[in-house]
Amino acid sequence: MADMHLNPFENAQQQFDLAAEKLQLNSGMRRVLRVPQRELSVNFPVKMDNGDIEVFTGYRVQHNVSRGPAKGGIRYHPAVDLDEVRALAMWMTWKCALVNIPYGGAKGGIIVDPGRLTMPELERMTRRFATEISILVGAEKDIPAPDVGTNGQIMAWFMDTISMHRGYTVPAVITGKPVEVGGSLGRVEATGRGVSIVAREAARHLGMKLEGATVVVQGFGNVGSVTADLLHKMGCRIIAVSDVSGGYYNRRGLDIPAMIEYVKKNRSLAGYKADGIETVSNADLLELECDILAPCALENQITEANADRINCKLIVEGANGPTTPQADDILFEKGIFVVPDILANAGGVTVSYFEWVQGLQEFFWTEEEINNKLERIMQHSFEAVLHQTLTHKVSMRMGGYMVAVARVAEATQIRGIYP
Ligand code: GLU
Repeated sequence: MADMHLNPFENAQQQFDLAAEKLQLNSGMRRVLRVPQRELSVNFPVKMDNGDIEVFTGYRVQHNVSRGPAKGGIRYHPAVDLDEVRALAMWMTWKCALVNIPYGGAKGGIIVDPGRLTMPELERMTRRFATEISILVGAEKDIPAPDVGTNGQIMAWFMDTISMHRGYTVPAVITGKPVEVGGSLGRVEATGRGVSIVAREAARHLGMKLEGATVVVQGFGNVGSVTADLLHKMGCRIIAVSDVSGGYYNRRGLDIPAMIEYVKKNRSLAGYKADGIETVSNADLLELECDILAPCALENQITEANADRINCKLIVEGANGPTTPQADDILFEKGIFVVPDILANAGGVTVSYFEWVQGLQEFFWTEEEINNKLERIMQHSFEAVLHQTLTHKVSMRMGGYMVAVARVAEATQIRGIYP
């Protein structure tokens, strides 16, 4: 039987309830904000290379649009389900509000292991899914982006599909596109860059020196690899990283640029070898003694089952929902400083916002402008959350939720309930 605590949507609702209580939101507002506004489920056929027809199931959920059009990525993963997409959509609402960009929250996904499809199959599945959810999507109403299992090429197919339907090119309908078709400079690195910025700010607050600080990163996809690379460049010693193939550990420090090169050639870290490297499981990796732990993979990694054994000073959540509410309590008791997902990984959607603005204006910025604007937003958001946290003597997650939920509640209140 599934552990109730491991349902991401129940976890997201529980986090919201705690913040709503702290903010003393009225019960009507709580009822509005704790459920998604709109949910679309689609079952759609795709012709496979061998001539078979397969039917895939996908979702697009819009949690809230009171602060602007819905925004959030599309996930391709075998474990996608409606409750996961609901949770991810809700987290997008808070994330966009927290960094104060004019969006509501949404998320989409398909139940699929994209690694098992050929490129033509992946393209046909993406184009059909884009068509199925096109009734919701649009530059002024709902703007998808990459998430776990999707990338720039998939965004380009999605943009092209919507553009073919409309009869003209609509770059602002999706973000995370390759630069050649209206993507933004700096978007690929943006999430990991944001994670490294908040790690730096948190280290400063804690009086921890980044030079020589030991770091463990779970996940070596877009978020984990960039986070590891940038923290390495800031002088940290990355002692362990992992991906689906398992964990790689060397107390003296890993050669992150070499590992990134290896993944470019081999698609994963499987088979990576270097002097002094030990392999560890993904579960054991989380419990390694270190200064900074960056979970950058999936939800429910730090739970009440292992939270007590987490052995670091600072956690920066590159993933969405890696820590359950029960684990949060344990980490807080232990005095571990947690920079929550809705702040730590908000760099991605922030540069998505820049991409959308550039697309709408058809006027593009330099990478330096992008990175400077991202730096300012991340720093400012970190300060706002820290201020709330210190004022109310709560966790950074609660501080972040208080800032974000209050903004969404205010927008909803000011707009009023229609009719
Ligand atoms: N999927 C990313 C996230 O979880 C990015 C979303 C976006 O850029 O819209 O924040």
